[in-house]
Amino acid sequence: MLRPGSTVGFLGGGQLAQMLALRAASMGYKTAFLEPDPHAPAAQVSERVGFGFAEADLEALAARCDVITVEFENVPPEALAFLEARVPVRPAGELFRVSRHRALEKHALAALGLPTAPYRVLAPGDDVAGVLGAVGGRGILKTAELGYDGKGQRRVASEAELAAALAELNVPCVLEGYVDFVRELSIQVARNPSGELAFSGLVENLHAGGILRRSVYPAAASEETELAARQYARTLAEAWRLEGLLTLELFELEDGSLRVNEIAPRVHNSGHLTQDGGGASQFEMQLRAALDLPLADFAPQLPCVMVNILGWPEDQPEPAWEEIVRLPGARLHLYGKAHRPGRKLGHVNVVGKTRAEVLEGAARVEAVLG
Ligand code: ADP
Ligand code: MG
Repeated sequence: MLRPGSTVGFLGGGQLAQMLALRAASMGYKTAFLEPDPHAPAAQVSERVGFGFAEADLEALAARCDVITVEFENVPPEALAFLEARVPVRPAGELFRVSRHRALEKHALAALGLPTAPYRVLAPGDDVAGVLGAVGGRGILKTAELGYDGKGQRRVASEAELAAALAELNVPCVLEGYVDFVRELSIQVARNPSGELAFSGLVENLHAGGILRRSVYPAAASEETELAARQYARTLAEAWRLEGLLTLELFELEDGSLRVNEIAPRVHNSGHLTQDGGGASQFEMQLRAALDLPLADFAPQLPCVMVNILGWPEDQPEPAWEEIVRLPGARLHLYGKAHRPGRKLGHVNVVGKTRAEVLEGAARVEAVLG
């Protein structure tokens, strides 16, 4: 295991790297990161040693760090290979190659027997006759690469809409059949190089316009559903010999069965509630896994709701932060990012004794946020 005093490097300097770096510091580790934006959130708490994926930057990070981990999956494979030749990168490159590309991700899930929405891979100019019918008659066309927070997605309900959306996006895409889910869930698994596994609790997620608005622990799902989610997470972590933390986004259907939506080889917005729910946070767990420290399950000890703070419309005032910090059980987290409408700027975790109590608290937070 890497001892306190070692240095952890991050690819990316957004809020996830910021929160990883904060936890690393409190665990006795130094940190450094690569990021094009000098004012990125991680710059407040860690040292930016390079700009991006140029060799000189990668060299600087590798020279400084004992292990490298990530906050986002869109890392060019050549950059990962360059780093991996110099210093351990956890998780390893193969996981990124797959998880950054929706078609490869879907194929990989299918190969492991994990259920997904029906899907078809499409390229610009492809004949779309019959394709929408094959996935159930309505669906979502998603760019194969570089999508996040619902960006690069078009809902389609006819062949004409599909053809128009494909022409508009004009890059390789995956068409997914629309899943009529009763709820969205997520679960996380951490695995260290020694092969120990640990699971998060099952979290319930509410999205609007493709962007996460709220996460709730515990999820209102059955024990069988939770066990199935764990089993999927275990299958992925073991098949890929994960060294790090992985998040699975899931759809739960009426009959309680699950479909895997997507995977992220890192801490995730839906795991932020672990910061204040008692127990180890997802940030600590990704670090422990990368550092090869011992692992243990990390379900929160208290019911908890996370409410995202999105950038407010230009014609509205900044939310009344002082009202939020006054609410019982509410913990305000702000990332120090410049304001832009719709941008993720922070979140509020509400903790309490019961699920009903934290849901009520979350509604109060949402009322203040407007
Ligand atoms: P992102 O990378 O932006 O998170 P996702 O594929 O997770 O992209 O899509 C964002 C959200 O859009 C999902 O959390 C879900 O609410 C909705 N969504 C995505 N795919 C489907 C689908 N096949 N059926 C129904 N809803 C979907
Ligand atoms: Mg998603």
